[in-house]
Amino acid sequence: MKKVIIVGAGISGMTAGIILQNSGFETEIYEKNPVPGGELTGWKRDGVYVDNCIDYLMCSKKGSAMNELWHEIGMLEEGLNMYSKDYFFKYEGHGGEITFWRDKERTKREMLALSPDDKEVIEKFFENVTRAESMIMPIDKPMDKMGPRDFMKLGDFVKNVPAAQKAYKGVSVKDLSDSLKSPVLKSAVMMTHPEKTQAYSFIMSYAMCTSGSGDIPEGGSLAAAQRIANKYKAAGGKLHLNSPVKNVKIEGKLATGVVLEDGTEADADYVICASDANHTFTKLLPSSYMPKKLQKPFADKEHFSVFSKFHAAFLVDGKTSFIPDTTYWESEGLNVWGKEIKDVGVICYDYDPTITPEGKTVLQMKIFQYADDVDKWFELAKDREKYDAKKQEIALAMQALIEKKCPETAGKITILDTWSPVTYATRFNAYRGAYMAFVADKDTKTVTTPGVVKGLKNVFLAGQWLMGSGGLPPATAQGKYAAWRICKKEGVECK
Ligand SMILES: Cc1cc2nc3c(=O)[nH]c(=O)nc-3n(C[C@H](O)[C@H](O)[C@H](O)COP(=O)(O)OP(=O)(O)OC[C@H]3O[C@@H](n4cnc5c(N)ncnc54)[C@H](O)[C@@H]3O)c2cc1C
Repeated sequence: MKKVIIVGAGISGMTAGIILQNSGFETEIYEKNPVPGGELTGWKRDGVYVDNCIDYLMCSKKGSAMNELWHEIGMLEEGLNMYSKDYFFKYEGHGGEITFWRDKERTKREMLALSPDDKEVIEKFFENVTRAESMIMPIDKPMDKMGPRDFMKLGDFVKNVPAAQKAYKGVSVKDLSDSLKSPVLKSAVMMTHPEKTQAYSFIMSYAMCTSGSGDIPEGGSLAAAQRIANKYKAAGGKLHLNSPVKNVKIEGKLATGVVLEDGTEADADYVICASDANHTFTKLLPSSYMPKKLQKPFADKEHFSVFSKFHAAFLVDGKTSFIPDTTYWESEGLNVWGKEIKDVGVICYDYDPTITPEGKTVLQMKIFQYADDVDKWFELAKDREKYDAKKQEIALAMQALIEKKCPETAGKITILDTWSPVTYATRFNAYRGAYMAFVADKDTKTVTTPGVVKGLKNVFLAGQWLMGSGGLPPATAQGKYAAWRICKKEGVECK
């Protein structure tokens, strides 16, 4: 039985592990953290659960190959309750409000009533939301190994998704906002994605909700990660937690295993690096092995940004008037790093009673952080006291905005936790604290990199950095692709 070592128990590494175990391999996963799941995670503070991932799970609806894969790895399972998203989000401000309902016809009607002058932009938007509903994740085999017949099997995806992408070619989220006349709609379309992101990304995310394929599994992200880890262990996989890998051992054109940070060595026939791409090619492997396609976005920082967020989680003693899920609003403003942020939002976790303490409310407020904002966090984190003070200062300012918006919360809010891009870097070795992969701007295309390492025959890559702007479906698909490549090499069926 051939042995495979996997670096990283994120969703990608664990997916590779489950499929390889089911296909007859012996696998071991080495994970630096005490819990599996990587960025698919959550934790408890003062006994209260704080979620830190799934806002929407693409292909949560039955009927796609990706949905079957969610069941195979344990992300979803029969009988698991799903929170059915009736709306993507709500925005209130500039004297009006708009909700992006699951029922897109309703949203369209409400948008047209709000701003008849935006008819043309609105109609184009909904035409392409409908097209983007055909979005699926190909998972049978790596995309670089797909032939015309494989693409034919993808059905409407092949004609609809490229058409929607083409309709918004060269258009950023900010351009989409600028093309609208209504100040309410202008602000609303800017809320879910960084402004430089291609407008198509926003359309695709909303289409997930309108197609009923972006629901949230009960119990949140940590429970999902635990289910996946349990599937892996039940299939016979060995999961080593608290086991950071220092580097991959190489002899000529072959990897022979890994060396752990504590000096322990483990041998293997194959190695899968399922960690952050920058970490893989600065620490685990010499940087000269980085595939050319990956080098490009790392080098072209102008067109490929990465983003992260500052988050604060709050516990409210009592119930609030916030609707469950996501509400954004025009506030008095928040000043972060000298920049005024007027439109803010919260996620209210009331939608999942299993993670909400009885009679209380858990809220989270997040703000995008990019480029020099991220540098400032890393600089500040060199002085722990100043770093903590800054996090507290922003969290208190956020709390004041929540109290202003919902006066019934005054005096009842406790700050549960605060975290920043530095948290993602420290905890997961994430490049510049990013929790998605590269966000291509409107002038470029997203990059998909085959998970192979030129010059090393038995090392494969997995993880979100290999596909588009990342996220759970690409990370999971890449785990499957890495397993597929090893099965193919060994001439065994990939199960
Ligand atoms: C707040 C937030 C919200 C999100 N919302 C969504 C959403 O709604 N929908 C969606 O699809 N996606 C969402 N994402 C993105 C999603 O979480 C990621 O795309 C996905 O989890 C990445 O998985 P991965 O396996 O590629 O990488 P990771 O999760 O980063 O896994 C890599 C693993 O490798 C480990 N590791 C790193 N270096 C080493 C080493 N040297 N030795 C051993 N182990 C190592 C890390 O600790 C980690 O466990 C969100 C992420 C966050 C943080």
